[in-house]
Amino acid sequence: MVINMDTYVKRYTTVVGLEIHAELLTKTKLFCGCPNKFGSGENENVCPGCLGLPGTLPALNRAAVELAIKGGFALGCDITRLTSWDRKSYFYADLPNGYQITQMFAPICTGGGVDIGGRYIRLDHIHLEEDAGKLIHDNLRDTTRVDFNRGGVPLIEIVTKPDMRSADEAVAFIEKVRLALIYAGVCDGRMEQGRLRVDANISVMPEGSDTFGTRIEVKNLNSFRNVALAIEYEALRQVRTLEEGGSLRQETRRFIDASGETAAMREKETAADYRYYPDYDIPRLVLEADYIEALRNALPEMPESRKARYIGVHQMTESDAVTILARKEVSDFYDRMVELGADPKDALSVVRGEILRNIGDRDEAAIAISPEDAVRLLRMSAAGEIGANNMKRAIGIIMRGGRDSLDAVIEKNNMLIREDPDLLASVVRGVIDANPAAVASYKAGEEKVFGFFMGQCNKTLKGAVQPKTLQDELKRQLLAGDNDK
Ligand SMILES: [Zn+2]
Repeated sequence: MVINMDTYVKRYTTVVGLEIHAELLTKTKLFCGCPNKFGSGENENVCPGCLGLPGTLPALNRAAVELAIKGGFALGCDITRLTSWDRKSYFYADLPNGYQITQMFAPICTGGGVDIGGRYIRLDHIHLEEDAGKLIHDNLRDTTRVDFNRGGVPLIEIVTKPDMRSADEAVAFIEKVRLALIYAGVCDGRMEQGRLRVDANISVMPEGSDTFGTRIEVKNLNSFRNVALAIEYEALRQVRTLEEGGSLRQETRRFIDASGETAAMREKETAADYRYYPDYDIPRLVLEADYIEALRNALPEMPESRKARYIGVHQMTESDAVTILARKEVSDFYDRMVELGADPKDALSVVRGEILRNIGDRDEAAIAISPEDAVRLLRMSAAGEIGANNMKRAIGIIMRGGRDSLDAVIEKNNMLIREDPDLLASVVRGVIDANPAAVASYKAGEEKVFGFFMGQCNKTLKGAVQPKTLQDELKRQLLAGDNDK
């Protein structure tokens, strides 16, 4: 029997809940002083504490707690005033203690949610926990090594309600959460480095039903694309299994990059399997209201609010606003220019043009020019001291990593507009003398040759003369009788 999957899939609703793991931007690990650093040599950032050696005790990292609270505020959560730590017991080679320190019974944030274009996706809670180490499989030598650099790195796990109904909604949700965490300074959001990873809980139910189907978890999705592929593949697989008369069991699956499919890993553990119990090595944490409030106030303006301001106050189009907001450093740069007195329209045109064109995908997303210099160039241009093209060129040169100061760039490239009538007259004269044929056609009424003359003159003048002044001089000499030579 041939099954037409399209028809069947339409009769089912996909239900998705997510667990987003976001490593925090602290300098050190959650319970010891080792650096929280990506890209070090294997087992460079370890100590007896994060290696789980006997005789060591955890000491809680205050910065991690603060970032978790900020993450909670960025996502509209309530902060738990009395929070505590628990041990999640399981055996794995990258977990030297045999348990992970996490928060099972009193997570640091509860509630909250995110609007994804008209649909509100609720969070269940956010808890703080330590990351595990990493296994490195070396096929060449047929060995597996353990790297504990990541062991003990602080992360928050953002757990949603099963509120999403498609892969698109899941992706939209993760995009919003990721951006909010980046703006709040909580996580750098680099999925390709595993610093933000997603587990998806996926089930299907007959359309119109309100009873969820069997939930299947797909672990460790590290790109938007993989999240979408995994959800789509799983929904289809589950529908097919059910339609063929099979049954689903609760299990954990992994996503296979090469094929876009998922494969069974193990039966889903329940809370009982992990034997959660309080970690008495770490005192419970009482958070004072003033302390929490100070952290709320320290939060920078979030993307949603910036977007409303850009569109409402600065008259930006939605698509421009989204472009500017996609990178926090770009949004900050634009805001600073406006703060320094630039007209929002001029600031936008600089940012959308020379800044975004030259920023590239560099990890260290430095915008090499300062907002102060960018505003200074706008003022010079408005005052007729520098031409519009040279203004853009100057920004481009600095953005592409020149070492010179703005003044030096302007000086070296002769970018200032100078009032030098003799120079102007001689350049124009030279161009006219060198192009007798063009002069003839201009005199015969071919107006468009004029642009050619402008271009030729600018090859020498390089914007150092106001376009209007150049035009006037060109016309004067072109229209002058030969006797005036
Ligand atoms: Zn350590």
